[in-house]
Amino acid sequence: MAKYEVIIIGGGPAGLTTGLYTSRAGLKSLLVERGMFGGQIVNATLVENYPGFPEGISGAELGSLMHQQAIKYGLAVVTAEVTGLARGHPYNVSTTEGSFEAAAIIIAAGSEYRKLGVLEEERLSGHGVSYCATCDGFLFRDREVAVVGGGDTAITDALELSQHASKVYVIHRRDQLRAGQVLQERAFAHPKLEFIWSTVVEEVLGEKMLSGLKLHNVKTGQQSNLKVDGVFVAVGLMPNSRSFFNILELDDAGYIVTDETMATSAPGIFAAGDIRRNSARQIASAVGDGVTAAMSVFRYLQERS
Ligand code: NAP
Repeated sequence: MAKYEVIIIGGGPAGLTTGLYTSRAGLKSLLVERGMFGGQIVNATLVENYPGFPEGISGAELGSLMHQQAIKYGLAVVTAEVTGLARGHPYNVSTTEGSFEAAAIIIAAGSEYRKLGVLEEERLSGHGVSYCATCDGFLFRDREVAVVGGGDTAITDALELSQHASKVYVIHRRDQLRAGQVLQERAFAHPKLEFIWSTVVEEVLGEKMLSGLKLHNVKTGQQSNLKVDGVFVAVGLMPNSRSFFNILELDDAGYIVTDETMATSAPGIFAAGDIRRNSARQIASAVGDGVTAAMSVFRYLQERS
């Protein structure tokens, strides 16, 4: 079994930053990533709030630069899904590409889009059902679309989609938005946006492509069909912490509980970025978490030697 000093789970900004620091410090480090390096930022057309890029930078380019910089210092990477993390010293990380051992683990596996969990959602995903307005909005030029959710993401998505679509319905399960005041004011003033309150989606309709939504008003009990060409689901994020629930303390929403050194409830296991409780969910804060976690790993390994 391949042995490392540090294994990093997740190749977004937090994981890649940790990998840069640990490998540059000479620790034998492995990063396990199941998809593209950069994590969620690869979906961002333009990142305008990451310091050092006054004109902004595409998320995919930023992710690629972070990856290049980390492997330049010897970080080993493997494309695989982590299937388990077993207690013991060293820790054993099982993946779809085999098992690996390390004395210290950093979990930076981020979060993923929460699904509606309704009939046909999965089948029509990519065929009218989307979770990323920035990625897919341009496909709906002059079409009618819906956004589901009432948070900052839903309203930001609705405003972004209004640049392409002819009409944007916002379907929210309550009669009040969760989104910030400024976004709300902009949304209510927008002529292309129409709000459908106290309503949930019961089913997404369509054969090969989405053709509409079956809606249920939770106050009146009334059911209706809404004809749209696209639906953008923006009902929050879920941490990718399923593989760790049996060995780490998680909060009620499934985020990993850490202290300010990024230490989790298990010695030698640290967490960084969006997967940890109270993360600011920003690229810059994920990078900061990654540095803190790497520093904590240095200390932890020194104390053990
Ligand atoms: P969020 O704040 O958790 O909002 C999720 C929305 O989806 C809520 O309105 C919620 O309804 C609704 N919802 C949850 N589960 C649902 C379900 N099963 N069916 C229907 N509706 C459901 O998530 P978010 O909007 O993705 O934001 C995540 C974080 O990023 C927040 O901290 C946010 O402030 C931040 N963010 C900030 C900006 C910005 O521009 N400042 C942009 C994007 C995100 P209820 O309201 O009834 O709970």
